[in-house]
This record gives sequence, C-alpha cells and structure tokens, in this order.
Amino acid sequence: MIEIEARLDELKALGLHRRTRLVSGPQGPHVLLDGKPVLLLCSNNYLGLADHPRVREAAADAAMRWGAGAGASRLVSGTMTLHRRLEERLAAFKRRESALLFGSGYLANTGTIAALARPSDVIFSDELNHASIIDGCRLSRADVFVYDHCDLEHLAWGISQAEGRGALIVTDSVFSMDGDVAPLAEIVELAQQFGLRTVVDEAHGTGTLGPDGRGALAEAGLEDQVDVVVGTLGKALGSYGAFVACDQQMARYLVNVARTFIFSTAPPPPAVAGALAALDLLQERPRRVQKLAANAGALRDTLQEVGFDVGESRTQILPLLVGDAELAMRICEAALARGVFAQAIRPPTVPPMTSRLRLAVMATHHEQELRDAARTLAAAARAVGFEPRSAGAVAADRDEPAIPAPEDPDLDMLALPPLPRRPRVFDFEAPESVRRAA
Ligand code: PMP
Repeated sequence: MIEIEARLDELKALGLHRRTRLVSGPQGPHVLLDGKPVLLLCSNNYLGLADHPRVREAAADAAMRWGAGAGASRLVSGTMTLHRRLEERLAAFKRRESALLFGSGYLANTGTIAALARPSDVIFSDELNHASIIDGCRLSRADVFVYDHCDLEHLAWGISQAEGRGALIVTDSVFSMDGDVAPLAEIVELAQQFGLRTVVDEAHGTGTLGPDGRGALAEAGLEDQVDVVVGTLGKALGSYGAFVACDQQMARYLVNVARTFIFSTAPPPPAVAGALAALDLLQERPRRVQKLAANAGALRDTLQEVGFDVGESRTQILPLLVGDAELAMRICEAALARGVFAQAIRPPTVPPMTSRLRLAVMATHHEQELRDAARTLAAAARAVGFEPRSAGAVAADRDEPAIPAPEDPDLDMLALPPLPRRPRVFDFEAPESVRRAA
C-alpha cells in the first residue's frame, strides 16, 4: 500500500511537491494571486475569451434557459439542442463532416485513442505528447512505440518494426510544454504510406494557429488528411470541454465505442454556450489570432535579448528552460515577488532535468508589459543565482539521451540498422524520463 505521508515527504525532498494558488477574479491578463496583483503569464486563455463579456453573458443566459447541467450522458438523456448547434459550428470551423463533444480534452484523448487501438495493435506516440494521450495509450492496452520528439526517422523505424501491427500515429500539434509544432505533413505522409490512422491533438493549436485560428493542420493544408482532430474548448475558446472533428462514420463509431463519451455526463449548457459565443467572436474578429502571434513574438524576442533559451517554440507557449526543479521553483517565486506569475513546470509533467517556467501569452496582454515581464524574469532568475544565458547548456543536453537505452534483449537480437537514438517501446519499459503521468 502507498504510504501517503512518506510519499508526500519524498516529493517535497525532490522539489516536486505541488500546491494550488488562490486567484481572485477571472483569468484575465492581470489577476490577484494570493491577494497580490500580478501579470498572469501562464493561463491558456490565449485569446482572452474566457473573461470576454459576451462569452460570460452567453454562459449566464444558457444557464437560465437550459439549466446548469446536462443531466446525464447523451446516450441516456439525449443530445440537447445546444450540443447539436455547437457540434455543427465546430465541424464547419474545422472543415470536417462531423464534430463530437466530450467533457474535456483529457476525456476526448483517452476515449478516442482507446477506441482506435486494441491489445494486438501498435500505437506510435511522440515522447512529449500530453498525459491524456499517454493515458489513452495505456487504456487501449496496445503496444506503444514512443518515438523521440518529432523524430521522423525514429518514427519510420518504429513503424518498420511493428510488422504490420501498426494502427495509429498520435501527436500533439502544438506541444503543450514546449510550444513547438509537430512535423504534421511528414507524419501524415508516413501514415498514408503505411496505412495507419492519425489522431492530432490541436488543444493548443485551435484558435491560435492557421487561417482564422483553425489550427496547425489548417496552417499546413492538412485539415482533411487526418482521421481525428482533437480540440479543446478550455483554452483559446475560453470555456470548458472538448471535441473531436472527423468524418461521419468515425463520429458514429466513437458514439458507440468511446467509453469517455458513453459513460460521462454531457458538457453543461453554460460551457457549451460560452464556447459558441467564443467561436462567434473568433470568426467576427480573427485579428485576435494575429494579435496573439504579435504578442508572442514580442515576448520571444525580448526573452532572447535578455539571454533566455526558448527552445523551438514559434507559438504562444514559451518555455524558459532551467533544468533543476527546485531552481525553477525559486525563479518562479522570485518572479512572483516582482509581480509576474509564470508557473514552474516540473516532472512528471516534463522529463527530469528539463524543469522550466512555461510562459503562455494572451492576445489581451499589452506588448510593453510582455517586454517588461521578460526583463523581470531575467532579474528574478539572476536574483536566485541562475544566469539566463546558461540555459542553452540545458537545451543542448536534451539532445543526448539523458538515460541509457533500456536493456531489451529482443531488440538486440534483431541486429537493427544503427538508430539515430535509442529504440523504445512504451511504456512499461520506458525510462523514467518518459513515464509521465500529470
Ligand atoms: N491535450 C493537450 C495537449 C493539453 O495540453 C491538454 C490540457 N492541458 C489536454 C489535452 C486536456 O484538455 P482539458 O484541459 O480540456 O482536459
């Protein structure tokens, strides 16, 4: 049995203990945090729609008209007209035949992936995919090949090793802790070449990238080239819940097979109406997306000027790589003391020794306050003994396997061609660096 107190003490000793902070007011660009005014630089309310008056009003009206809750799973008490309306709008937005709502992105990923792979199949999953994808893979009980981050050579090698058992490639489009974008065109090409399905999680691409914020797939001209697109309503679309966009047959299949759709209460009317209003606002004024990109560009430039390494990000998510978990926490606290809230992200959310501050920009930030925040973050880092310019060393280290290749006699016996990096079969054999759960 788990010794809870001992485990908590252990987490504290490792610098991995977590607590939530108390925020007053909505998730705007400024909040009161534990009573103190700060710039909020870690919310996924990218377009500032969660606190937009029209979104709030729509949610409030829906609560009066349709109630606060959906009552049951849609297979039990029915699809409400509001669910149907949002699904039609989302399908049109994503240029797909159908959209199907789920309670959250976590539920959309776990339910969809588990519905598309069986124990005899192999799923190919990027090593930095979100925890909900990892857990979907686990639920499917398929074998999972975790390919090195965005490494197409490694992915192709994994596919060749699967001997026809391959079922699915799954990837984030925008990686949630790094802000880089998956090589979607190449992934789609590999999938088509080998007859595999594709699931692309656009949680952080929806509303932020591509024409009118339609996503990274739309940006790459691939909207209709993947089997399932997952999108969330809780980030750029300012509400709560999620959806998949796909063809009609796939939607029918998921209604029948995805357990997180079947066995979970449908999204509540206020959240659905809030997302509908957010979609209206996005489509009326797609310039919000450009403002977000301009803000992200301003912050990225200034962070680089003051010496921070922001990795490969070209999006609104900017990681400040630190390495050590405790040091990342100390920088976070020092920044907070100076009025900037940028949450430190530590294992198991990210691999060991890649702790970071994850900055998330909003379209409603002012460019100047973002530039000032970059300087504040540099001052905070120096105040606790971290020189931003040393961060490059951490990034370079990441190119090397942090942990030796797992001892796998079967793989040895195959006398494989040399690999760019280690082969890996997820996830019971996976090294600690990829065994992430939060
Ligand atoms: N996918 C990704 C890439 C995410 O970052 C998240 C949430 N952080 C999710 C899925 C889960 O979405 P939700 O918060 O709606 O459960």
